[in-house]
Amino acid sequence: MRRYSTRVGLVMFAVAVAVAAGCAAPKTDRGVVYQTSTISALLEGVYDGSLTLAELRKHGDFGIGTFDALDGEMVLVDGRFWRVRGDGSVESPPLDETTPFATVISFEAAHTLRADGPFNLADLEHLIDSAIPTRNLPLAVRVTGTFRYVKTRSVPRQTKPYPRLVDVAAKQPTFEFRQVRGTLVGFRLPPYVQEINVPGYHLHFLADDRKGGGHVLELSVEDVVIEVDDSSAIYVALPADEAFGAADLAPKAAGEVERVET
Ligand SMILES: [Zn+2]
Repeated sequence: MRRYSTRVGLVMFAVAVAVAAGCAAPKTDRGVVYQTSTISALLEGVYDGSLTLAELRKHGDFGIGTFDALDGEMVLVDGRFWRVRGDGSVESPPLDETTPFATVISFEAAHTLRADGPFNLADLEHLIDSAIPTRNLPLAVRVTGTFRYVKTRSVPRQTKPYPRLVDVAAKQPTFEFRQVRGTLVGFRLPPYVQEINVPGYHLHFLADDRKGGGHVLELSVEDVVIEVDDSSAIYVALPADEAFGAADLAPKAAGEVERVET
């Protein structure tokens, strides 16, 4: 299984390199999941921003990621970027800020589900999985509701020499919120994106009052509206900088993405 997903990941990498070398890029980003860099590069500490938020926004109005020097968790919703810092504060970053890793889409809800709940994270995932059973195509997921409880984490800005992501994540600050209205923003990606992105669900939270958010660890939510946008294309843009070029991106021990991103 591991061998299989690794091989597919390398095929995707080769396709992305071909695109960067001059083959035609998609004419429209409608329905295209666009990402910059790869999760394996982030795991290896390639944290220098390689794309501005202004550039990233040309490829989507909805998504998640991080910022230059791993300075917080990104939430992009309704075309507006938010940064949840390592101290838990939330700000709207300038568009000349850069990102080392982000995944976005021009979100259009193809399916909408409404349910009372309360649901925990596994319930919510099960609900979406029941509605969209195939795991083989990417799905953007937007959930609004009343969160009885949500536990998130963020990451503090890093300094060089950058530590590996597993070492950062081992000391990540976490935050808890109760009885707050908010939105979950993220993706359910196929298992074969291993090495390129995060397989399965990857959700970030943003409180409606913009006073909290982060990478979701646990939750209990009720009065939910789930919107999903299914896609049949993933475009991987690769940084042409020295840090990405020099990183050792050979597949590593299994489990690091799970330890860092779930
Ligand atoms: Zn995250």
